Amino acid sequence: MTAFTTLRLDGVTRRFGGADALTGLDLEIRRGEFIALLGPSGCGKSTALNCLAGLLPLSDGSIWRDGTRLDTLPPERRGFGMVFQNYALFPHMSVRKNISFGLQMRGVPRAEARRRTDEAIRLVHLEEHAGKLPGQLSGGQQQRVAIARAVVVEPSLVLMDEPLSNLDAKLRLEMRTEIRRLHQNLGLTTVYVTHDQEEALSMADRLVVLRAGRVQQIGSPEQVHNRPANRHVADFLGFRNLLPGKAVSASSIKINGFGVRPSASFVGAIGVGDPVVAAIRPEDVEIGSGLEVTVDVAEYHGREIAAEVRTADGLTLHLRTSQRLAPGDKVEVTLPPSRLLVFPG
Ligand code: ATP
Repeated sequence: MTAFTTLRLDGVTRRFGGADALTGLDLEIRRGEFIALLGPSGCGKSTALNCLAGLLPLSDGSIWRDGTRLDTLPPERRGFGMVFQNYALFPHMSVRKNISFGLQMRGVPRAEARRRTDEAIRLVHLEEHAGKLPGQLSGGQQQRVAIARAVVVEPSLVLMDEPLSNLDAKLRLEMRTEIRRLHQNLGLTTVYVTHDQEEALSMADRLVVLRAGRVQQIGSPEQVHNRPANRHVADFLGFRNLLPGKAVSASSIKINGFGVRPSASFVGAIGVGDPVVAAIRPEDVEIGSGLEVTVDVAEYHGREIAAEVRTADGLTLHLRTSQRLAPGDKVEVTLPPSRLLVFPG
């Protein structure tokens, strides 16, 4: 393991043919951090991870481990561990062999290799399965083997590409906690690719939100969740209502003729008269005197109803409420000013 203080990506760019898959990624990863690369399918997350791993050469830019240039080194000399979505286990080797293989390759003495393998098996709770072949394990167990195999060599950085996407919902939740626990207990530095905002928000110390190969925002879960940098990030982070409107003063807007004075300031440069997009999460839209709407769709979600409602002039809003709404119901809704973010239109 080559310990580092910071790992720096400097303008990392990767093109396929003429098209940029990743453009000018600047990022500093500090030792011990858990970084999530988040964004929709095709935004360049895997490309970024593969550039970092050395599986893809850069088209432009550089990668540095403290003062040492890294992007010119082959993958095996970077000292990183990788966990993929499809596990990539050796099918003919037992769980134990799969996990100890990397230690063997590195010439770790036998007794130490055995001790570290045992420890890794214990960490991921596979004691009872150590002698089995991957094909005899469930998806979740296979994913645990892949994780143990990556961390057993004590890599300076662990790269994970959608490691939970093949697991069922319950196991996914459990493994989130488990990966985060391993990260903490082993003092790992982790870069984790996901398109699942909840996964990223709940696991990472910092999020890097990508769209079409470009960084949109880098920040803590709170920053990204509460104050998305632009409407694309807002959209991706659950602001399902993106309502077109117009700035009518330095601090108020009109949406379909009704005025709102958002208490949070505008995000980005907006002048009076400019088109804007007001963003609000469905769970923040309240039922109470305000806009008259008709319920179009009401979906039962246990504690809540997720509803799609429409104003008389055709503006659609999504909301979540504990009220038992049904299609055709007429109610009034309000958009609490403190929950509205306003972006340039
Ligand atoms: P997903 O979540 O679907 O895996 P992603 O965010 O990881 O998506 P990438 O796999 O990094 O996205 O792909 C980014 C862009 O680069 C996409 O437009 C993709 O089609 C393109 N791309 C990726 N790999 C190649 C390749 N080997 N050849 C050509 N184009 C590629």
